Amino acid sequence: MTVTDLITAVGDSRRYNFHSHTQYCDGHATIEEFAEAAVAIGMEHYGFSPHSPIPFESSCNMSFEDVPRFIEDVKEMQRRYDGKIKFYTAMEVDFLDNEWGPAVDYFKGLPLDYIIGSVHFLPSDQGGYVDIDGGYERFQNYMTEHFHNDIRHVVELFFDRSEAMLQAGGFEIIGHFDKITHNASIHFPALEEQPWYHRRVNDLIDLIAEKGVIAEINTKAYTREGRFYPSSSLFRRLIDAHIPLLVNSDTHYPNLIDVSRADAFTILDKSS
Ligand SMILES: [Zn+2]
Ligand SMILES: [Zn+2]
Repeated sequence: MTVTDLITAVGDSRRYNFHSHTQYCDGHATIEEFAEAAVAIGMEHYGFSPHSPIPFESSCNMSFEDVPRFIEDVKEMQRRYDGKIKFYTAMEVDFLDNEWGPAVDYFKGLPLDYIIGSVHFLPSDQGGYVDIDGGYERFQNYMTEHFHNDIRHVVELFFDRSEAMLQAGGFEIIGHFDKITHNASIHFPALEEQPWYHRRVNDLIDLIAEKGVIAEINTKAYTREGRFYPSSSLFRRLIDAHIPLLVNSDTHYPNLIDVSRADAFTILDKSS
């Protein structure tokens, strides 16, 4: 589906979630359990978007071997609940570099309805990749072990990779585009006051608008961290840039499909 197809399919509905995980990656229930929960709370559109296979070992990402079964499982869920809900076969594809990301032939060849492009991994100074998502304690260790405690370097690297991903294309939704800010602002509380940080965020927003992809408002961590991804301080800027927006919960648990989505819509409504 194109960006326009997705936005048209959703229409005025707010009963949707296009970003979710299951046991195929690091989610905590089966696809059947998520499907049942989505139908039970009256979702009209629901996308299954496992963390994509990547070319190295990662416990959070689905395996290449599981991909055909995943695709069949979503079809089966559609058959089971047809008329009640529309399920989508998707992936949250990791952009590593121009050799591995949403634009590579492997993903182009899969029968997916759409792709979320996300940056979770950054190249370590020692070679290899480091997952900068997840808890702060681990991030803090990585800062020492892999990044010489240079927070600006890590943040700039995140935005560099996000820009490279947008330039390469191959996806319809950019996932949590300021996600680095959570861990980085714990490490460096004045981060969001830095002119260079503002420049990077604003340049990225301009590029998202130029490329015409959807930006998600990711609500997964709002109750825990008091923060949406992107930050609610950017909602007005996104609306002014005419970027299509979707509010997604990025859930890993069936009882959190709708988590904080109403809060995000409330702030979005006030921002427009
Ligand atoms: Zn993600
Ligand atoms: Zn996710």
